[in-house]
Amino acid sequence: MASSTAAVSPRAAERIRAGHPWVPPQEVTRRPDPGEGTADVVTVVDRRGVELGTALFSAQGPIALRMLARSRVQLDARLLEERIARATERRRQLLPGCDAWRAVHAEADLLPGLFIDRYADVAVVQTACAAMDARKDLIAEVAMRVLGVRLVACRDDGSARDFEALPRDRRVLAGSGPTTVAFHDAGSALEVDVLVDGKTGAFLDQQENHQRAASLVTPGLEALDAFSYHGGFALALARAGARVTAVDESAAAIERLRQNAARNQVAIEATCDNAFDVLRRLESQGRRFDLVVVDPPALAKRRSALPAAERAYKELNLRALRLLGDGGLLVTCSCSGRLSADRFGALLEGAAGDAGRPVQLLERRGAGRDHPTLLGVPETEYLKCWILRVAR
Ligand code: SAH
Repeated sequence: MASSTAAVSPRAAERIRAGHPWVPPQEVTRRPDPGEGTADVVTVVDRRGVELGTALFSAQGPIALRMLARSRVQLDARLLEERIARATERRRQLLPGCDAWRAVHAEADLLPGLFIDRYADVAVVQTACAAMDARKDLIAEVAMRVLGVRLVACRDDGSARDFEALPRDRRVLAGSGPTTVAFHDAGSALEVDVLVDGKTGAFLDQQENHQRAASLVTPGLEALDAFSYHGGFALALARAGARVTAVDESAAAIERLRQNAARNQVAIEATCDNAFDVLRRLESQGRRFDLVVVDPPALAKRRSALPAAERAYKELNLRALRLLGDGGLLVTCSCSGRLSADRFGALLEGAAGDAGRPVQLLERRGAGRDHPTLLGVPETEYLKCWILRVAR
């Protein structure tokens, strides 16, 4: 079917020519005609009608056009198969021996609006725009074949769907068997239910950071994992010989963590509680740790929430610093895309100042290499995982 056409402003045309993949609604000067061809996959033209390429069109939401190619292409089985296969091959080379990774990371893998996580023989799809959402069954069929999995589920049940006016949806798309799956994260054995647990099941973007944190452990070190979820950090630290306390407010997460600890034959003191309260309590008890991990959920999902989120991040990090002895390590994370690395650095500096202690910045890390970012698109660089040390 012939695609319909969307025209963009000179400014947007210039950005597309420079390689930027997104066009906001206000830069679209002529929207595609819903009666003409496939309205969700469009040919993009500039003011003079010169073709700039093919994009996915969203009638609602902050991104109207997501560039799929700088030529005319169809979003069909062939294109999906080619691009998913290429992205998957890169992961196999990048993380040899790993059985869980993000196979497709949207724009950065030339598949805008599509995420696919692989957990052993199960894959989980998330879509972020109407065009990908409408092709989920086709995507599942291709993913089964390319990834060689037995089941593909979708977890399109996050709040980001509301921005695009897409319905929330979570179900098995293809294949059979249980939706629970055993896999490894940084060498730890875990089990998730991809239809029930958080995100797509686990936080694969932190896998390489779990490994890095574990490499800092000396046997017997006292560690605290605040916002532990199923124990990505806690398990890696405990397996490296640390004595670990883990905190999460979700009873389901703590239950999984306990099962995972048994599976890995390590002991972890797991507490189901509010991490803010626990940090305060531990401080008033005079407890000291050698390593503290702080990995809260995205505290700033909307721009308007940013000031309050920055205060919360600062408070968490201040409390974490107060629990550390001299030479203690802080592994501190933020997965809020709206909080820039500069602002994150500034609030950590504020926390160190309030704690009255000199703090070294040892490493600025981000999401694992299976979550590439796209140069020139700072929004794709959402995760910060910094390693700090209280100097002595
Ligand atoms: N560190 C984990 C991922 C953490 S995701 C990993 O690397 O795998 C964030 C977690 O914070 C979720 O499990 C959520 O249940 C928990 N959470 C959210 N608010 C909380 C609070 N106030 N106190 C404790 N845990 C909280």
